Order: sequence, then C-alpha cells, then structure tokens
Amino acid sequence: MNNIKQLDSEYVANTYNRFDLCLTHGKGSIVYDENGKEYIDLGAGIAVNTFGFADKVWQEAICNQAAKLQHTSNLYYTEPCVTLAKMLCESTGMKKVFFSNSGAEANECAIKAARKWAHTEKGSEYSTIVTLKNSFHGRTIATLAATGQDGFHSEFYPFPEGFVYATANDIENLQKTVADNKCAAIMIELVQGEGGVLTLTTDFVKAVFEIAKDNNLLVIIDEVQTGNGRTGALYAFMNFGVTPDIVTTAKGLAGGLPLGATIFSEKVQNTFTPTSHGSTFGGNPVCCAGAVSILERLDEDLLSEVKKKSDYIIKELTSAVGVVSISGMGLMLGIEIEKPIKETIAECMSRGVLVLSAKNKLRLLPALNIPFEQLQKAVNIIEEVLAL
Ligand SMILES: *Cc1c(COP(=O)(O)O)cnc(C)c1O
Repeated sequence: MNNIKQLDSEYVANTYNRFDLCLTHGKGSIVYDENGKEYIDLGAGIAVNTFGFADKVWQEAICNQAAKLQHTSNLYYTEPCVTLAKMLCESTGMKKVFFSNSGAEANECAIKAARKWAHTEKGSEYSTIVTLKNSFHGRTIATLAATGQDGFHSEFYPFPEGFVYATANDIENLQKTVADNKCAAIMIELVQGEGGVLTLTTDFVKAVFEIAKDNNLLVIIDEVQTGNGRTGALYAFMNFGVTPDIVTTAKGLAGGLPLGATIFSEKVQNTFTPTSHGSTFGGNPVCCAGAVSILERLDEDLLSEVKKKSDYIIKELTSAVGVVSISGMGLMLGIEIEKPIKETIAECMSRGVLVLSAKNKLRLLPALNIPFEQLQKAVNIIEEVLAL
C-alpha cells in the first residue's frame, strides 16, 4: 500500500482525494484490498459497475469480443456497435445513437447537436443552452460551462459562451431564463447526482417540457448517472412520463468499460451529417459488447429488484438514528446525516463497507444485482456507524 500510494503521489497527476485504500480484486459486490480485507461495495465505481466486479456474463462478452476484434476505427462497420444502437433505440423509442467514451463527451455531443439543430431550425443566434444551478455535466471546458456550480469554474476561465443557469424546481425562474436568452435547448439531470442526489419535482419536469414546446427548444436529459436501470426504470425519464429529444448516458452503460452514448429522437435524428462529429474510440467493439450484455439483463425483473432494494434501504434508514433525510430514486440515494461525512465514510470503511458522498450526504450507488443479504449487512453496518 505504502509503495503504491507513494508511486501514485510521485507519478499520477494530483487531481483526486483518494481514500486510503488500494483495491486488488472483487466478485459481484464484494471487493478486496491488498491485505485480503473484504468490503461490501455500495459505490459501484460511482454507478459504473452495473453488475458488480468481474461479473461472469459481462466478462465473457468482453473477453470474446477482445479475442476477435478490439478496435477498427469508425471507418468500418462492426457488429457490437449496431447491435447496441438498435437495443438503445428500441428500448427508448428513440431513433439514432452517437457513441463516445465518457459522460462529458456524450454531453458535448448533445450540446453540438442542439446547436446545429437550432442553427438550421431557428437561426444561429439561438445557441444558448439552459442548464440548472447545482447541476453536473462533466469536466471538459464546454461541459464545465454547462455545469451550474461556480465552484467548478473559478480557475478555468474563459469558458465558451452560451450557457445560462436556471434554478431547479422553480418554474417561474426557468420561464424567465428562457425568455431572456436566445435558446437552443434545456439540459437537465432528473436526479442531480453530484449536486447532492436531488430529484427534480414532477411538476418542474413537466414544466420543462411545456416551456421547451412553447419556445421551440430541445430537451436534453443527462442520464449519465441515472441511466441504465439505476433509478428502477431503464432510463430515469421513463419515471416521469416525458419524451426527451436527446438523452445522454455513460457510467453504467458498459458495466465498467468507458462508453458514452448520445441518443437522438426523431426530431434530431438527421441533425448530424458526415463530418459533423466523430470519435476515434467511440463505439469501440469491446465496450459495446460489454454494454449489450448489460442491457440484455436490465429486464423488468431486475428493475423491480432495484425498486425493492431501494424501498428496503429507505425504510431501514428513515427510522435509523442520526439520519436527517433521504433523497434520490432507485439505487441512487443520498442520505443526509447528523455526523460529519468524512468520518462516517472512514468508519464504514474500517467496518468493511464502501460508501460515497455527494456534497454533505452519504451517497449509495450499489451494483444493481447486489445480493439482498449483502445489502442488508452493509445497511446494518451504516446504521451502527450512524448511531455511534
Ligand atoms: C459523471 C457525470 C458526468 C461526467 O461523466 P464522465 O464520464 O466523468 O465524463 C456527466 N453528467 C452526469 C450527470 C454525471 O453524473
């Protein structure tokens, strides 16, 4: 550990506050450190390892693909990419997919598509993207500009123009923001993950779509974190009964491999034309084969399991000592606690449970297939720690 920690601090750019823990291998929701100590993982690599560590089905899918063809560039057709695109379209009712390698890139692509759509439909001055305060859309310069949190901005000016921020769950403020700017699109997370696991109200989400309709704007839903079964629906927008124009996703899509997807509805399916956009790695066969194997298993049974586990966590922790409130949806939950967050995470870790934070909350993002007994054991340990 000390050796790895030292090499990391010597050679890896100092951008992460890592926990004092070096992980070596895992199986499902159990993961081990280099001393062989076992942990129940409630973080899933920040909502990425949809079926936990080293899942057999996923492993086979990616190993088989890697043994055949690992990359071709987008100059050639490959089968996993089209299979995955078809699955994404058929399961969302949308029409076309652009593949990239991360959430930020999926959002960059959505921003470009919205601007190009508006350029053709409304005139190039209608380029502004309205996002929400407290949002998180990525770390590239444009997606940072889209991110409505000053804390992320201060040291990285100048940003590209054309991003304005409305207040989440404040319909009047959104109306005014749209009226005051020449807009192309409204871009939102339905549950603000990094912002503290805050779910938008149904009324506000409905209003977003009405305001967009009245003003001829696109609605982009950032499902980088909420997508791929995380909230108990395949995509979170399905919980709200709305029909977005563009959906972006990444994190859990390929179960632990880097893959971003920007999914276009009928309205924008032909916005991009050859040379509009591209990515060297985008649609990588190994990542897409992994994603196909994940999506195939996100069926009604699995989603209903997600809801049951969510209900269990909420019920158990609502009545627990030291819990102030619980927010979020499905297996994307934020627990507001009385105790300081850092110490709580450290104490959970020392008792063999890995949890995350978002702002001042405990954040739980377990693998969707975490066995109930492991979940129960982990939740009990959290309760013990909160009651200390
Ligand atoms: C994580 C996240 C991103 C950024 O994804 P990266 O893969 O880190 O680029 C964007 N939007 C949301 C909502 C996220 O949770």
